[in-house]
Amino acid sequence: MTLTDRPVPHPSTLTEPFWAACREGRLLVQRCDKCGAHVFIPQEFCRECHVDTLTWVESAGVGHIVTYTVVWRPQTPAFEVPYVVAVVRLDEGYEMITNIVGAPPEAVAIDAPVRVRFTPVTDAITLPCFELAA
Ligand SMILES: [Zn+2]
Repeated sequence: MTLTDRPVPHPSTLTEPFWAACREGRLLVQRCDKCGAHVFIPQEFCRECHVDTLTWVESAGVGHIVTYTVVWRPQTPAFEVPYVVAVVRLDEGYEMITNIVGAPPEAVAIDAPVRVRFTPVTDAITLPCFELAA
């Protein structure tokens, strides 16, 4: 198995701007034009005030780990273990489920500061992973 055997997301009309930006090394998030909430995962409506006027904006890509787990038994052999799955809260106030990369699992900790690091998987998909920032 290689990296390209990994199951990957399938962009939709709604999510393609997000994936296109990831390919360029930029992290986008939707921001509500009415209430200013940052919305992730991409949605048709703001989850806070339910208007449908959301605009893509660039995220700084920095935040901290809310919680995480270390995976030792992957869903498919395409994933090399161990790897870290984490909930990261970005400084803009939204959360992503992602991977922590570039550090051994024992170095990962709740509240650790992180920054985005893009991991190309296929020509179409570059994943926004995170690395420890300190
Ligand atoms: Zn809103």
